[in-house]
Amino acid sequence: MNLQSTKVLTNGVEMPRLGLGVYKMTEREETLQAIDHALKVGYRAVDTASLYGNEVEVGEAIRHSGVNREDIFVTTKVWNNDQGYDATLRAFEVSLKKLNMEYLDLYLTHWAVPQTFEETYRAIERLYDEKLIRATGVSNHHEHHLQKLLAKANIAPMVNQVEVHPYLQQNTLKTYCTKHDIALTAWSPLGRGGVLDDPTILEIGQDLGKTAAQVVLRWHLQNGTIIIPKSVSPSRIEENAQIFDFELTQAQMTQLASLNLNKRFGQDPDNFKFDF
Ligand code: NAD
Repeated sequence: MNLQSTKVLTNGVEMPRLGLGVYKMTEREETLQAIDHALKVGYRAVDTASLYGNEVEVGEAIRHSGVNREDIFVTTKVWNNDQGYDATLRAFEVSLKKLNMEYLDLYLTHWAVPQTFEETYRAIERLYDEKLIRATGVSNHHEHHLQKLLAKANIAPMVNQVEVHPYLQQNTLKTYCTKHDIALTAWSPLGRGGVLDDPTILEIGQDLGKTAAQVVLRWHLQNGTIIIPKSVSPSRIEENAQIFDFELTQAQMTQLASLNLNKRFGQDPDNFKFDF
């Protein structure tokens, strides 16, 4: 595995195993610089959402990077109040315009809004049929949401992006996704920084000469999970990519597996406050 390694989705499209997450990047210059730096270092994927308010900057940074558009995997998401069939198609058009692109690599339902998530996914299937997106997917879908989609879908979701880190390992969902060929992407792969003081993780890092963040990101990779850590700091963007030159032993993987607390730093998809 190296920085250009990909996971092959069910339709053969290759999704980079490491991407830059850009949630809470609201400062224009900071966002442009972070993405530019990540692409220079060798990242080939950016994860945004209409909610993040930075699709314009993501598109601009990519266009000015000197890297071919086809070589970068761009993901965005439809926000909750834009869900439903027609509204999703309209929201997609707005996102595409803001990004100033002709197609996207992956479009996701951001959260499974109970009344509309099935229709939202139907619109995503249509975008795929029209070749406006290279892959379909969802985010924050529990197994029961996926079951509903799979019962009706012509094209099964290729990706599910959910909160995963050592304190929330999502093993049951992961097994279900593996069984149905749905690639799992970890959001908050570092637990928003909340797992980086863990003594076990720090100790493993010390033994390997790696930081806690690098140990955690490597653990995800060895579990087959796609990761999108967020940072605006050039040194951390680099640090988070220096995870391809070492390997965790089986014993270290077992130690990390024992840290699961089923603890969320974000919201539970079943208790999300959709009406704010
Ligand atoms: P994260 O786990 O990536 O952690 C980010 C935090 O960790 C930041 O405060 C950053 O400064 C710090 N950090 C990053 N690298 C570090 C390092 N090497 N050492 C120490 N600290 C470091 O959390 P996140 O931003 O919540 O998640 C990553 C991405 O996932 C987001 O940017 C977004 O793209 C996506 N996301 C998606 C959803 C969703 O609902 N689909 C929700 C949250 C996040």
